[in-house]
Amino acid sequence: MSNEALRQELVELDKKYFIHPTSSLQDQQANGPAIIFDRAEGVHCYDINGKKYLEGMSSLWNVNIGYGRKELAEVAKEQLEKCAYSNSFSGFSNEPAIRLAAKIAEMTPGDLNGVFFTSGGSESNDSAYKLVRHYWKVKGKPEKTKIVARKRAYHGVASGSTSATGIESFHDFTTSLAPGFLHVDPDSPEAFRQLIKEEGADTIAAFLTEPIQGAGGVNFPKEGYLKEIRQICDENDILFIADEVINGFGRTGKMFASEHFDIVPDVLLLAKGISSGYVQLGAVVLREKLHKELIELSSGVLMHGFTYSGHPTACAVGLKNIEIMENENMVENSKVMGDLLAEKLTELQKETDIVGEVRHLGLLGAIEIVKDQESGERFAEKLSGKVVAAARERGLILRNVVYWEKDTIVYAPPLCMTEEDVNEFASIFKEAVLEVQKSL
Ligand code: PLP
Repeated sequence: MSNEALRQELVELDKKYFIHPTSSLQDQQANGPAIIFDRAEGVHCYDINGKKYLEGMSSLWNVNIGYGRKELAEVAKEQLEKCAYSNSFSGFSNEPAIRLAAKIAEMTPGDLNGVFFTSGGSESNDSAYKLVRHYWKVKGKPEKTKIVARKRAYHGVASGSTSATGIESFHDFTTSLAPGFLHVDPDSPEAFRQLIKEEGADTIAAFLTEPIQGAGGVNFPKEGYLKEIRQICDENDILFIADEVINGFGRTGKMFASEHFDIVPDVLLLAKGISSGYVQLGAVVLREKLHKELIELSSGVLMHGFTYSGHPTACAVGLKNIEIMENENMVENSKVMGDLLAEKLTELQKETDIVGEVRHLGLLGAIEIVKDQESGERFAEKLSGKVVAAARERGLILRNVVYWEKDTIVYAPPLCMTEEDVNEFASIFKEAVLEVQKSL
């Protein structure tokens, strides 16, 4: 069968049977799948017709070490053959899960030491909400239940994590949300203080935040914001949950973004880069104090667990992923290449008329599309989608964010990026911007 005949067959099957997550059902029927991926290597993916793309988003901000690492395939094969799966309920255990828990405890900031495994970010979030509520319950404060999150935050799509998300369109999609989630202004510690006054600290279980908001447009916290929030939490006996599902595992040029802001959360949420997307994996990490108190006070069975919590094959892959990241200095590379890429993108402010602010930490960044580079004023009609489409046509995958007033392009390429990849990214992006600019 020719490539084109195969593609046609797959397009028809896709339209008929495959309900895509976070995609337009109607676009799919009209146009078929946007790209059918076939293979990938390093920072590049190839579609079924052999067209090459630089994956400027590491797919969903998750393929941190890059594609095609045979060591991960080998370790998965080895574990699948030896003991593909065993559960972690009822005190059962397995070596990859034990070793990965110990590794995570060693590498996470401060005394974050107790690890509960999940299969992804939404599960990590919902698990954390239940664990912190359970914690307050066994501490004799069962009325401390509310989770305070920030507007513009993204925390996932399970029942709790959708409710914690601060992007309205995720709420509008459905008819009812989980109770007990509140949203505050994302930049003002005073808003949190005010909310505590109104609601009472004795009703609030935790403050939840991504150190740097990802899906909401790569929004950096205001100077001193996270430290002040940490302090307010301490003063009011409220736990601090950091969702580093995107931020973690070298994405921002440090292993964890909390380190940039000099904070140690009480609970750290992980997924994505923990396995670079090679298998489904996530984790909730608790500070030692919390873990110890739970051991002391939580008598009986911890009534929370997924079939795949501590999946031996997923954990074996996670361990090897972290080993590669460390052995090849990918966290440092994220900083060096991230700075270089941001520098080249910033130069486009001079070489084009519509590139505005470029902000980044490591290889997590955003580019604003503006009408006026001086004032930052935006176009009435949003253009970021056109730039993303023009870049994709030329072989660079990016994503745009148009919630609220935003007209933003976000990027998060693999941490194994080389200088040559940076140049390719910047040059395709420039051409895409110039094409859109010419059409104005
Ligand atoms: N938290 C954050 C900060 C995320 O960016 C995401 C996914 O993008 C999630 C949670 C949800 O993770 P998952 O899609 O693996 O459930």
